[in-house]
Amino acid sequence: MPLKILNYVRPSSLEQAYDLLQEDGAEILGGTTYARLSNRTIKLAIDLQNVGIGSIYEIGDYIVVGAMATLANMQFHDLIMEYADGYLYDVISYIWSVQLRNVATVGGTIVPKWGFSDFITALLALDTEVEFYKAGRMNLEDYLKGMMIKKDIMTALYIKKTPRKASFKFMRNSEYDFSIVNVAVSAVNQEGKFTNWRVAVGARPGVAALSYKAMEILNNSVDYESIEKAAKEMKNELKFSSDFRWSGEYRKEVAGTLLQRAVKEVIG
Ligand SMILES: Cc1cc2nc3c(=O)[nH]c(=O)nc-3n(C[C@H](O)[C@H](O)[C@H](O)COP(=O)(O)OP(=O)(O)OC[C@H]3O[C@@H](n4cnc5c(N)ncnc54)[C@H](O)[C@@H]3O)c2cc1C
Repeated sequence: MPLKILNYVRPSSLEQAYDLLQEDGAEILGGTTYARLSNRTIKLAIDLQNVGIGSIYEIGDYIVVGAMATLANMQFHDLIMEYADGYLYDVISYIWSVQLRNVATVGGTIVPKWGFSDFITALLALDTEVEFYKAGRMNLEDYLKGMMIKKDIMTALYIKKTPRKASFKFMRNSEYDFSIVNVAVSAVNQEGKFTNWRVAVGARPGVAALSYKAMEILNNSVDYESIEKAAKEMKNELKFSSDFRWSGEYRKEVAGTLLQRAVKEVIG
């Protein structure tokens, strides 16, 4: 049985959408690419297409991506293609298919905090924040670590344009499958000196988390010995578990290798 929608509304303001969302059985629709895979019944489906949160623009040091922008809107936007040598352009291109990316939204990709997400891992390695209509603006990391924010609307993603160099690596069983593990690494590039490292590991299969130990080691030194040590410490620090795809032990080993490759790619 497919997803069933009993009532559908397309409010014209965020305030109206938020009020409707407080009703029993009301849910936000993103691109519905994931929602439609379930056989649930949504009593009141709220389509955000007319509330004005689909644009991508610059404010000060930030690139702002509206929650209703599609992954394809984001991928091909000049600001995204230019930032960090097109790092996010590349990451988005790995997400399934053109058809999916044309419909799936930035909000629908961040809000559910799916463990398999490549997008979230890639964003966590940058200086990113998310904004909700009522809960306000917070670091992506705080959002991922916190409780699910229920009955609120994600309005935008903020990407700080810190001059970072970044690399994203993943392992899948086949091209059209979810990542079994993924790693994103970035550092601030100050005339060839790399500082402020961020190391995110996702699909463990839990949602992406930062490895503070790896970041500390890399912030002190980035020679081959330190890179190996960073990988080793990351494997001890983060939790890797088994599921029907792969064992936790295998994930952990692969994550260590991906981390080393990503760091080497960043330092060039
Ligand atoms: C076949 C398939 C393959 C995929 N492969 C990958 C992959 O390889 N890598 C990867 O990273 N991702 C992958 N994804 C995930 C994809 O990128 C999208 O994240 C996902 O499909 C949901 O996007 P959507 O906009 O359609 O959200 P929807 O399905 O519409 O919504 C998902 C959830 O988010 C909520 N929501 C949506 N927007 C908002 C908002 N603004 N505020 C509050 N709540 C909101 C909805 O209520 C719902 O609970 C895949 C998805 C599918 C279906």
